Amino acid sequence: MPDNDVRDMIIIGGGPAGYTAALYAARANLKPLVIEGFNWGGQPMITSDVENYPGYTEGILGPEMMADFRRQAERFGAEFVTDDVTNVDVSERPLRVSVGDDEFRAQTVIVATGATARQLGLESEQRLQGRGVSYCATCDAAFFPEKHVVVVGGGDSAMEEATFLTRFAAKVTIVHRRDEFRASQIMLERARANEKIDWVTNAVVDEVLGDDRVTGVRLRDVNTDETWELEADGLFAAIGHDPNTALFLDQLEHEDAGYLITQPGTTETNVPGVFAVGDVQDHVYRQAVTAAGSGCMGALDAERYLAALEGHLMAAEAAPRV
Ligand code: NAP
Repeated sequence: MPDNDVRDMIIIGGGPAGYTAALYAARANLKPLVIEGFNWGGQPMITSDVENYPGYTEGILGPEMMADFRRQAERFGAEFVTDDVTNVDVSERPLRVSVGDDEFRAQTVIVATGATARQLGLESEQRLQGRGVSYCATCDAAFFPEKHVVVVGGGDSAMEEATFLTRFAAKVTIVHRRDEFRASQIMLERARANEKIDWVTNAVVDEVLGDDRVTGVRLRDVNTDETWELEADGLFAAIGHDPNTALFLDQLEHEDAGYLITQPGTTETNVPGVFAVGDVQDHVYRQAVTAAGSGCMGALDAERYLAALEGHLMAAEAAPRV
């Protein structure tokens, strides 16, 4: 592969962080290649109305917002590969990113692979995925008109999913393993005020019941170990997320939970030229707007890194600031 095939920048991930990095990099004339994943769009694709992204005064559906993000980056020359990265090698320069047999090379890589919804870890849950077990109320709520669904979790996601589900379902039961909730007060109160929502606390789902479709769940009281069955047509797990870092764990410094470590106040990883942005390195804020801000930081950090590399210095000085 000739040298001129080495790009300035590859961005891995097509969520708020990745597309914002792409927008800034494209406007800085870095012609970023965004390997956005087969299921591009990131977590807003499984969110209902986004009411807290500044600028959308009336709110917007998550998928529509991500299509906007993508179009905006494309407008300034970002290129896209709509597939999943299969291998990354940042041990030597140029940095290498593979999608199957196709290898892409670049001076900088911005990792924006985000995080993924956690599963309960039950065999019956696996078996009934897409048959009543879901991790995405926005995607699947409409399949449960006038039905009873169970939502597992006690955080903001569980409150949001349960509240959204009541637009369709006749009844929603929130099952939470404690009697205290980590959800924010406003989301908890909104769910509590909803008459369609029932609550089961100090309990976990032991088994998802049903052969071809979900017919119910077996619950277990965490204090007494008593079990009982609850008829239900669907189960929505809303129990948090894990960072998508499997490709990087042996190459980049990370926390025990897998989140990539960046230098304080920057998006730099421990490998020069490799930057991490958005939820892949943030388990605190995890908002679309903070991910987008982080994506902007990554593009600026990478741009400065490139400017310091021989051959880019003069071009960077001549280019207008973004
Ligand atoms: P989270 O805050 O980590 O909450 C996960 C919940 O699931 C916790 O209540 C946890 O119980 C429970 N859980 C975890 N593993 C479980 C298991 N195996 N079985 C049963 N229950 C389990 O995750 P999140 O709700 O997805 O929220 C993540 C972040 O995104 C938060 O910062 C949140 O504020 C934010 N968020 C914001 C919005 C919004 O503002 N619109 C919407 C969604 C999320 P314990 O409490 O006992 O640990």
